[in-house]
Amino acid sequence: MNGERLHLKNIMLTIDLEKCTGCKICEKICPFGAIAVVDKVAQVQDNCTLCGACVPRCPAEAISIERKRISEEELRLFSGVFIWGECEEKGEKLIPKKVVKELLSQGRRLSDKLCQELSVVVLGDGRLTGLDTLIAHGADRVIRCQHELLGRFTTEAFTSVVSALISKEKPSVFLFGATPHGRELAPRVAARLQLGLTADCTGLDIDEKGHLIQTRPAFGGNIMASIVSLYTRPQMATVRPNVFHPGELDTSRRGEIDDFEVALSPAAIRTKLVALEQIDDEGEIGIEDADIVVAAGRGCQKKENLQLIQELADALGGVTAGSRALVELDWLPHTKQVGQSGLTVGPQLYIAVGISGAIQHLVGMSSAKTIVAINKDPDAPIFNVADLGVVGDAMEILPLLIRELRK
Ligand SMILES: Cc1cc2nc3c(=O)[nH]c(=O)nc-3n(C[C@H](O)[C@H](O)[C@H](O)COP(=O)(O)OP(=O)(O)OC[C@H]3O[C@@H](n4cnc5c(N)ncnc54)[C@H](O)[C@@H]3O)c2cc1C
Ligand code: SF4
Ligand code: SF4
Repeated sequence: MNGERLHLKNIMLTIDLEKCTGCKICEKICPFGAIAVVDKVAQVQDNCTLCGACVPRCPAEAISIERKRISEEELRLFSGVFIWGECEEKGEKLIPKKVVKELLSQGRRLSDKLCQELSVVVLGDGRLTGLDTLIAHGADRVIRCQHELLGRFTTEAFTSVVSALISKEKPSVFLFGATPHGRELAPRVAARLQLGLTADCTGLDIDEKGHLIQTRPAFGGNIMASIVSLYTRPQMATVRPNVFHPGELDTSRRGEIDDFEVALSPAAIRTKLVALEQIDDEGEIGIEDADIVVAAGRGCQKKENLQLIQELADALGGVTAGSRALVELDWLPHTKQVGQSGLTVGPQLYIAVGISGAIQHLVGMSSAKTIVAINKDPDAPIFNVADLGVVGDAMEILPLLIRELRK
C-alpha cells in the first residue's frame, strides 16, 4: 500500500493513497484540523491526536488506524508496581499524603501476587521528609526525584519527570491517587506515553495472566466494569482517597531509598504559581478527612430539618454531608456531596439519615468502618451495607438521639 503515515509509538494512522478520492470529508470532520487534502489526496499532520474520528467517516475506507500489539517478550520487560507518592506541605516539610499509604496497602497486595517489587516515586525539593514511613507502610523501594523546580506541583515538570522515570524503570503497574493533582498528572503521563488509564478505580486485582484488573463504576454507576490494559505498559490507574484503608505500620520493614537523576530546565515550565488562596469552610474539617460523618438525604424532607443533622454531628464531634439529591436542591454545597460525582469518605462512623442507598452514593461511603442508617423504608438498599439499621421516621428519631448523646 502506497500510504501517508503518522506513527506515534504504538499507534499508526495510514491513508491509502490509491483508495483516497480527495473528497475532503475527513478534512471537514477532523476536530483538530489535522488532516488536509492536498493535490487531491489526504495528508495527515503532526497535530493528529489519533482520536480515530475520521476512520469510519471515510467513504472510500482509505483511513486506518493500527494499534501495535505489545509482544509477550516486550511485556516481560515491564516489572514492578509503582505508586506516585504525592506529597503535601506541612509547615517547612513536604510529606507524603494519606492517600499514598492507602495505595501502598493495595500495591503491596498486588506486588505480592505478581512476586514483584513495590516502589513509591516521590517528587519534591530539599524539604522532602517522612520517606522511611513509606517503607514501613509496605514499599520495597522509594525513588526520590529531588529538584528545586519540584517544590510545588506543576503539570509540566511532574509529567516530564514521571514520564522519564517510566521510560527508564519500565514498571508493569503505575497507580496514582485521584486527588486534584493526581487527576491532572496521570492523564498527561498516559497521553505522553500513549498508555491506557482507568480513572477512579474502586477495586484492583491481578488475573491469572498477571494483568491488572481495574474495577470502576460505569454507565452512570449502574454496572461495575472490569478493565484490563492488554497492549500497553505500565497499566495505569487512579484511585480516589478513602477507597482503601492504609495497612498497619511495620517499622521493622527494610527497603531502599534511591535517587533518580532529574533533568529539568525552568524554560520547560510554562505555568507559574502566582498566589495560593485558602477556600475556608468556616474552619470545619473537610468530609474526606473527618472521622465521623452525618449525612442527610431527601428523606430529611425540608431544608430546616438539616439543623437536626448539624446538631447530631456537633453532639458526636463530626461533620455534616449529604446525598446528591440535597446538593441539587441547593440545600448543601457540592463540597459536602458523598458519592460517585462527589467525594469519597472513609470515616470511622457514617450515619446516613433518609438516604436510600443508590449505588452512586454507596461507592462514596462503603469503606466507612461503621455505617448506621436511619430510614423509614425497611427495604431501602442502604440497609444492605449498614452495620446498624433503624427503621423509622428520622425526624422523630433524631431529636431523641441528640438528647441522649447530650446527656
Ligand atoms: C451519573 C450519576 C452520578 C451520581 N452521583 C451521585 C453522588 O455522587 N452522590 C449521590 O448521593 N447520588 C448520586 N447520584 C444520584 C443517585 O442515583 C440517587 O438519585 C441519590 O443518591 C438519591 O438521594 P437520596 O438517597 O437522598 O434520595 P432518595 O433516593 O429519594 O431517597 C430518600 C430516602 O429517604 C427515605 N425517607 C423518606 N422520608 C423519610 C423519613 N421521614 N425518615 C427516614 N427516611 C425517610 C426514603 O425511604 C428513601 O429511602 C448520581 C446519579 C447518577 C446518574
Ligand atoms: S475522507 Fe477518505 S477519501 Fe475522502 S479525502 Fe479523506 S481519506 Fe480521502
Ligand atoms: S485521527 Fe482524529 S485527529 Fe487524526 S486526522 Fe483523524 S480525526 Fe483528525
